[in-house]
Amino acid sequence: MASAPRINALIFALAMAVVGCASASSPAAARDGRGASPPDATQALPRSVVQPSKTARTGGPAFQFAYTPPQSRELRDIYRRVVEADLWRQLPEVQAIDGMFMLPRPLRFVTAECGEFGAFYHPEDTEVVLCYETLRTLYEQGRSHQQALGLGDDHPLRYLRANVRFIVLHETGHALVDLLDLPVTGRQEDAVDQLAAILMLRFAGLDETPEQVIGNLRLAANWMLSRSTGAYDLDAYADEHALGEQRFFNLQCLIYGTDPEGFAGMVAAGDLTAARAAVCPRDTRSASRAWIRLLVPHLAPGYEVYGEEAQRFLDGKGWVGPGGHR
Ligand SMILES: [Zn+2]
Repeated sequence: MASAPRINALIFALAMAVVGCASASSPAAARDGRGASPPDATQALPRSVVQPSKTARTGGPAFQFAYTPPQSRELRDIYRRVVEADLWRQLPEVQAIDGMFMLPRPLRFVTAECGEFGAFYHPEDTEVVLCYETLRTLYEQGRSHQQALGLGDDHPLRYLRANVRFIVLHETGHALVDLLDLPVTGRQEDAVDQLAAILMLRFAGLDETPEQVIGNLRLAANWMLSRSTGAYDLDAYADEHALGEQRFFNLQCLIYGTDPEGFAGMVAAGDLTAARAAVCPRDTRSASRAWIRLLVPHLAPGYEVYGEEAQRFLDGKGWVGPGGHR
């Protein structure tokens, strides 16, 4: 077994690679294009993304959004910013799926002081909770990357936004599994990581380029590595979550699988092993097909257009990559 310092060195090297290529303005990305984006990544998203007609949309129960004031004085500034920004309405994927499914009761999204880092789905309250402590930690992590790697001034906020999107969608996945009684075989934690990635690929903001969509996902993968100490014990091996390094590579694999030719650079850069890369197109496709087949029966009236898009995908004709254009 490798010693802890060696593992930590590996993690740091991988983190550098990810942060470097996830930042369009970073010298590393400009120099060698490691983990290169698809060939058309600098172009605007083709607008073939289907949208349900607003007039025809009746929809399922709408999401509810709330911001709970914190008790701690040191979290009040974060709270104020979150309220001013109306954070929940700035998450394009959450907005896109609001009303999309026939949930048995409304799902509530709440920011709150938790006393710890994290985000949670509470089935008893039908509530996704995002902790202010998480926002603080993510921002600090983004700032330390910025300082260590000489990234642009916008990096801490980009890092925060990308990870909040992934984390909230992961918890939303738990909520959908519970509320729609979706079958899951294997670890639910792995399944909802896949869903978060699929939603970010499909429902990113219309003003985001494919390069930015992939960049956001790679920042989320980076966070998984950042949290790892590399010094695992029995609790970590037995945990319901995969190890941080495994979640990192699972997400890299999912990204790679959307466009193996476009992302050939990931293997060359060591962000993915060749052996794993070989199965990623199949795994990306099967994860996407599985989630689509699970969710489509629960589409709300007015969202039939997504059912049709899903059928094209299941027939092998439709979307698999960022922006709904492949
Ligand atoms: Zn989870």
